[in-house]
Amino acid sequence: MSSSKNHHNTQYYIDLEDRCGAHNYHPLPVVLDKGEGVYVWDVEGKRYYDFLSAYSAVNQGHSHPKIVNALVEQAKVLSLTSRAFYNSKLGVYEEKITKLLGFDKVLPMNSGAEAVETAIKLARKWSYEVKKIHGNNAKIIVCENNFHGRTTTIVSFSNDKDAHNNYGPFTPGFIRIPYDDADALQKVLEEEGDSIAGFLVEPIQGEAGVYVPTDGYLKTAYELCKRYNVLFIADEVQTGIARTGKLIACHHEDIQPDILILGKALSGGMYPVSAVLANNDIMKVIHPGQHGSTFGGNPLACAVACAALDVVQEEHLSDKAERLGKIFREEMGKIIAKTDLVYDVRGKGLLNAILINDIQDSPTAWNLCLALKENGLLAKPTHGNIIRLAPPLVITEEQLRDCLSIIEKTILNFKK
Ligand SMILES: *Cc1c(COP(=O)(O)O)cnc(C)c1O
Repeated sequence: MSSSKNHHNTQYYIDLEDRCGAHNYHPLPVVLDKGEGVYVWDVEGKRYYDFLSAYSAVNQGHSHPKIVNALVEQAKVLSLTSRAFYNSKLGVYEEKITKLLGFDKVLPMNSGAEAVETAIKLARKWSYEVKKIHGNNAKIIVCENNFHGRTTTIVSFSNDKDAHNNYGPFTPGFIRIPYDDADALQKVLEEEGDSIAGFLVEPIQGEAGVYVPTDGYLKTAYELCKRYNVLFIADEVQTGIARTGKLIACHHEDIQPDILILGKALSGGMYPVSAVLANNDIMKVIHPGQHGSTFGGNPLACAVACAALDVVQEEHLSDKAERLGKIFREEMGKIIAKTDLVYDVRGKGLLNAILINDIQDSPTAWNLCLALKENGLLAKPTHGNIIRLAPPLVITEEQLRDCLSIIEKTILNFKK
């Protein structure tokens, strides 16, 4: 083989994946080969704006030089020790992330789902050993249309049929209530508060279609949890790390969750890094041998995460997401006024969605994404007729306005 990178066209790679890979995803028909900042290139050399950012994992932009450098330099020195030994990067990272987010301690994992599992185990153990719930009976409250990952326990409490069906028997111990409904939460807490360990919630439901709850909902939910000695567990795997205009979305309502779950952009998309943060009174219930991960807290992950967090601070990504998000929704509003195809835009910071004026399972959102792709912008429908629009936070105002004109042109020329 020659050293030139691409020997084949788009269809070749699509066929290859189709033939050799499990069909657990339905990607847009574009084969990416390179990324830099807000841009990605396909194997034909065509450039696109990335408006998905790997589900908000690349908030810092593709191949950020500072994060690449941390990865390369650390890989040359030491990548994995396991936690059988100490390593010289873990403590440094732990101090950085706990100081930044205001928690006593962090427990490092790899994927988002693993961190959610960790939080569930932590809340349950706390409820038996500190809250003193008896007989393995602790329950965790979750919300309708949640997305917390793909493990057997997590899909046990999902009401998404595709995620859930035929994966039983399911893990018991979860109570599902409507999202953005503080009364429903109060009712369950009144009835069963004594046997409830925690309330697991996404501050904005990303996968479900960027559902932003009513102002004050999270704060009220947090206060209800305090009243019933129930842990408020925030899954900020998607909303965290500056995406919504604050370092974590809970900061919009000035709340500090009892347990905070991070993943995705914690590494700038360079490497799987996730984390669970809590204070000593909660984290102390886990002792040696009671939870762990071979790769969790490895030196490579720690070096990458430190660099990724530095980028968020040095480049003021929270403020940027806040400012550009306002511009985005305002300008989208003007576009929506000119068309019947889209009827709303919603979101916070640079986590937004547009709602397509069609029935739930129509192909319109998918077809609009195909048209956006043709015009040089990549996005994907979340559920049915909703398109999430979430560019890397390093996007400039000029680039964002360029994207808005691509979106406008595509929508106004779109024929169903
Ligand atoms: C993506 C996501 C997860 C799961 O993360 P993985 O790394 O895919 O396991 C969990 N919770 C939320 C809110 C997410 O967006």
